Amino acid sequence: MARRPIIAGNWKMNKGTAREAKELVSSLVETLSAAGGAPAGVDIVLCPPYTAIAAAQEAIGDFPGVALGAQDAFWKASGAYTSQISAEMLADLGVRYVILGHSEMRGRFGVPEPDFTPEILHFLGETDATVNRKTKAVLAAGLTPIVCVGETLAEREEGRADVVVENQVRRALADLSADAVGGLVFAYEPVWAIGTGLTCDTDEADRICGLIRQIVGALHGAETAEAVRIQYGGSMKPDNAPDLLSRPNIDGGLIGGASLKAADFTAIITAAA
Ligand code: PEP
Repeated sequence: MARRPIIAGNWKMNKGTAREAKELVSSLVETLSAAGGAPAGVDIVLCPPYTAIAAAQEAIGDFPGVALGAQDAFWKASGAYTSQISAEMLADLGVRYVILGHSEMRGRFGVPEPDFTPEILHFLGETDATVNRKTKAVLAAGLTPIVCVGETLAEREEGRADVVVENQVRRALADLSADAVGGLVFAYEPVWAIGTGLTCDTDEADRICGLIRQIVGALHGAETAEAVRIQYGGSMKPDNAPDLLSRPNIDGGLIGGASLKAADFTAIITAAA
């Protein structure tokens, strides 16, 4: 079964004003149009900050082939949860995908409190259990989760990358049906490759994406493993995208920095097509 590639731009806390978001989306529409339009065989997703989702939607207008995503969602539909945004609220805005468990949201309990400085990006306390709750809530709202997993540099150096990823995948999927799992998207994002300019070796990225597929297969059978889409994320750029995206287990990319440049993002989309 051929899986449809999915390229998602994670804008993080950038381009969050209406003006900035409209400018970026308009440039992207221009560069994609110049390249012959959004390729029909690729899912393209833009994940702006919450504050810019409506403006991005307006700027996309009726340009075909570009969907909206969000960078997180809480697991409750409503209530006394100051600051949180529910999957239902996002669905109402026209959002179709939600990034969950990004490493910049996850906690690392081995890190002592005083070291929780802004320089340490893993500080927002997301756990595998909250990722699981959020995954269920996002699916229940009819949206597609993009579940991020990946090891830190220390975990890789200790030879624990596989076990860390396996635990994250199994815990994210707890109590989900095969049908639900087949429809979701994973992003393998080695933490040490995010925003650093370091890319995971292509063979290794494909191997770990293959491992994720095997774990899904062990939990829910070969058909579900064949259906689930797995992105690579971590300093994907126009020059390394063609090689990464040509690998059998890599079904797309979750792109940070390069998604903020219309020409680079378009080049990555074109490589996926
Ligand atoms: C990300 O934030 O998910 C990411 C992959 O960032 P970058 O492409 O900048 O490494």
